[in-house]
Amino acid sequence: MRKLAVSALVCLGALAATPAVSDERAPPKLIVAISVDQFSADLFAQYRQHYTGGLRRLASAVVFPSGYQGHAATETCPGHSTIMTGANPARTGIVSNDWVDQGAAREDKVVYCAEDESAPGTNHDDYVESAAHLLVPTLGERIHQMEPGSRNVAVAGKDRAALMMGGNAIDKVYFWKKGQFATLQGRTVDGGVAAVNAELAPVFAAPGEAMEVPEWCRPLDRAIPVSDQYAVGTGHFARPGGNDRAFRASPALDSWTIKVAEKLVDDMKLGQGAATDVLNIGLSANDYVGHAFGTEGVEMCIQQAALDQSLAGLFAFLDAKNIDYVVMLTADHGGHDLPERIDIQADPAAGRIDAALNAKQVGAAIAADLGLPEDSMPLLARGPFGDYYVNRALPADVQAKVKQAAIARLKAFPQVAAVFDATDLAAYPVPTGPVEEWSLEDRARASYYAPRSGDIIVLLKKAVTPIAQGGPGYVATHGSPWDYDRRVPILFWRKDIAPFEQPLSVRTVDIAPTLAALVGLAIPADQIDGRCLDLDAGPGSTCLLAKAN
Ligand SMILES: [Zn+2]
Repeated sequence: MRKLAVSALVCLGALAATPAVSDERAPPKLIVAISVDQFSADLFAQYRQHYTGGLRRLASAVVFPSGYQGHAATETCPGHSTIMTGANPARTGIVSNDWVDQGAAREDKVVYCAEDESAPGTNHDDYVESAAHLLVPTLGERIHQMEPGSRNVAVAGKDRAALMMGGNAIDKVYFWKKGQFATLQGRTVDGGVAAVNAELAPVFAAPGEAMEVPEWCRPLDRAIPVSDQYAVGTGHFARPGGNDRAFRASPALDSWTIKVAEKLVDDMKLGQGAATDVLNIGLSANDYVGHAFGTEGVEMCIQQAALDQSLAGLFAFLDAKNIDYVVMLTADHGGHDLPERIDIQADPAAGRIDAALNAKQVGAAIAADLGLPEDSMPLLARGPFGDYYVNRALPADVQAKVKQAAIARLKAFPQVAAVFDATDLAAYPVPTGPVEEWSLEDRARASYYAPRSGDIIVLLKKAVTPIAQGGPGYVATHGSPWDYDRRVPILFWRKDIAPFEQPLSVRTVDIAPTLAALVGLAIPADQIDGRCLDLDAGPGSTCLLAKAN
């Protein structure tokens, strides 16, 4: 079957000036797919000269420095949903981390992307973890379909990272939950992972000392005031014992996540069976560090150094087992530094969001204009930007008036770049072509899915941080349609791979078809939004082995 597909394609290739030949290498035994949360292309560019460990290995292999999460809603859940599915959030159905579902049987009508809200007694903060909202299969699920012996496993510092990369049919899944690694309801934490939890417990409970500042991070070692009461750049990850938020926002989270990944390899003998296994790893500390301290300070520098070493440990562990593995590393989105530092260093126009830009206040003004009751809440939203919903409890003619009034009022805010009417977006084509040239409407369309998206989509101007007041744990964020949030590195490594770097833009939706081709699987083009990237530096192609399945 494979031979047939190859010779057919070679014939097609013979028409071109340089005939393409398939790369004859056997499929890898293990696909290690890593997402480093909030690892922007900017961070990669800034720190790649300093990496000496795992990131150096990847930065010296096959490098796409301009990868894109093309869509506007650059949040964790949509971003992770693209990586192993090859599909835009418009197709995965994961339009944001949380959305409003006015038909949901719960008081606040807010649904978390990685939960099963049909479980009784739950709400969006206290939920049952599930990948049920992910509408398309992941690579691990597809390979298992082709080769039933293949295992699909995931571990991450966030449940949504593990579940969006792993999918619904997942053999083992672990995620950080309140000081330990947990799994889905109805499953038990296996022996090896339980042992990691036992080893972790006293470390988590004890205070953490300030971390050493690597020499190359010292120039960044200064305090930046966020308010009269708070500054970043001071603690170097010193933390009180047993504090979940502080532990998560430190490099320790990644090193423990990797310990769980190694335990899964040992316990399940991943990469040592007949079929190709998929190990999805979500390293979340980078994101918590970015939110808590910004992207350009000493904390992120220490985090980058620690991440580099944690990955070196993982690769050394796999090397020692003689597993034929391929590594892909990317990110769910990029990030933006805190405005207080940007203001000092680059752009005095950087700022925090106008506190009046929110569904409650805008809605109250519309209610007054239209003579609606004061408590009618005509607009619903999860934050100052992104999806705004018109309250469906209102009569249909009033809903239409609310929508028009809201569009006008939201457009009038100086910090707003664009406001899209969902009716227009629904009729707008899903974008293709060079992703860096997409219009704002293209970007919004790529993360628009009618049953879950808002009636109105609000995009903020560049360098507007949608946190009205920064404080401990939350000074900076992402989520915008701008390239600092969209652009991420996409790196591939395999033993003896010929290195090359390709600066043209590629997309995270290209990752799944690229990895699929290495195991001879062609994902039908009408099921995805990406394409296979040829990882062969020469005239050979790693994309030609794929067969329709
Ligand atoms: Zn994220």
